[in-house]
Amino acid sequence: METTGNTASGQPKVLVVDDDESICDLLKAALSARYDVTSCLNGRDAVALIGERDFDAIITDLILPDISGIDILAYAKNRDEFAEVLMITGNATVDSAASAINQGVASYMLKPFSIPELRGRVEKMVASREFHRKSLQLIKRDDISDPEVKGHINDVNSLYHFTRKLMLTLEIAEVMRIILEEANQKAGALFCSLEVDLLEYREVYSMPITGEAGRETLDKVFADSWASAFTHIDRESFQKGGIQHYIYKGRQGTFTPLPEYKCLNYPLIVTGKSIGSLSVWTVPGREIGHRLDQYLHILTSITSPVIEHVYTDLQARFQAKTDSLTGIANHRHFYEVLEREIARANRKKTTFALVLADIDNFKLINDTFGHPVGDAVIIELTRRLNANVRTGDVVARYGGEEFGVILTDTDLEGAAVLANRVCESVAATPFTGAKHELTCTASFGLAAYDGTKPVSKGELIFRADQALYRSKREGKNRVTVAD
Ligand code: GH3
Ligand code: MG
Ligand code: MG
Repeated sequence: METTGNTASGQPKVLVVDDDESICDLLKAALSARYDVTSCLNGRDAVALIGERDFDAIITDLILPDISGIDILAYAKNRDEFAEVLMITGNATVDSAASAINQGVASYMLKPFSIPELRGRVEKMVASREFHRKSLQLIKRDDISDPEVKGHINDVNSLYHFTRKLMLTLEIAEVMRIILEEANQKAGALFCSLEVDLLEYREVYSMPITGEAGRETLDKVFADSWASAFTHIDRESFQKGGIQHYIYKGRQGTFTPLPEYKCLNYPLIVTGKSIGSLSVWTVPGREIGHRLDQYLHILTSITSPVIEHVYTDLQARFQAKTDSLTGIANHRHFYEVLEREIARANRKKTTFALVLADIDNFKLINDTFGHPVGDAVIIELTRRLNANVRTGDVVARYGGEEFGVILTDTDLEGAAVLANRVCESVAATPFTGAKHELTCTASFGLAAYDGTKPVSKGELIFRADQALYRSKREGKNRVTVAD
């Protein structure tokens, strides 16, 4: 354990925990002008230090030789609810991020991190701790006897806690969980739900178990009420943090409230536009008081822009890898998947296959029937390719009327069976549009990747392309396997 600076200096105290001494040194150099920095190289020393001193901020590595950063966080929070912990990690998994959020982490950063960003976060942590302590001192002061004032400061404090949690994640299910948990706890409702109607997303998230409502109640509400609110429903259900979530997706119709429950609705509004609502479900007769009502309005005001942001982010990520005409993977994503599959095959010494397909005489289709019909043919071919692959395989639009199919754990023989099946299905079944029925064919080229004999991505594509070229040269409407 090492200390720099003067503990009596009045500077805020920061603890740095990392088993890599060079990182401790780096952090010390970055922070010691403003803070009194102590560092240690393992979890046990960290716990001992936290036990004997009040740190204004704790920076810890997630993975340490003895106990984990999450254990240090839990210990620090248990000892002092105001503890501000920044987690630094080389490989954050969703699980470790979720448990850090649940334990009250202030922030987490991925290695390599930037020093100015780290300084900014530490400053924020120190300020937060100060602010938080001050509001709690105020709540406890005897000269504030007015319960309304105390209640209000309490609410400010809860909102502060809540906002901190909310800012830590971009994962939609996690954002929804944080909001619903807060609303459920505050409202003591049967359950709460969040309805989102934003961009192309129509979704309902609900959390039944923290409220009094069991799954049966929720199922009934969904069956009788939400079912009428959607013209089409996909239901997903998943367990996270001991809580059962339901996600209903579909297109919106009209919502029919159920007479046996009371549903209070708090709209989610961003720049004057409604993007959904928070529904608090209780039984008639159980009132939501004025203060709670206000709290839920403020809560939804804070959460609305966050919800909009996570969905916009989701859409942006989706669009970056999707072809807009067909909805399948685009050229860029095709290359990413190919790289991933090559790495996996090398690691596991397995085989996968690459199929390139190109529509025959497509120019003629466009010239004869027009571009929109050409587009419809591309869409229909996508459907036929998708219908013939297994889950986990990736069908991508490689170019204008060219497709790339990555068949995981498949050898050349398996790929040839699939390509022949699609080739025959394209030639045999006419493509029917609103006005036209036309028959078209496609040519295919196949190559396999063998993890025991690695080649480059370019070489693999070249081989499949050569095979495709041979299919074209030898009369089209056929499958050629690379030799
Ligand atoms: P081949 O049998 O040798 O493949 O001949 P082809 O006419 O299919 O080949 P070529 O690659 O010369 O022509 C492809 C045409 O596809 C040219 C282009 O105008 C058209 N195309 C590319 N993207 C789209 C698209 O998104 N929609 C439509 N309708 N046409 C497209
Ligand atoms: Mg073509
Ligand atoms: Mg072409």
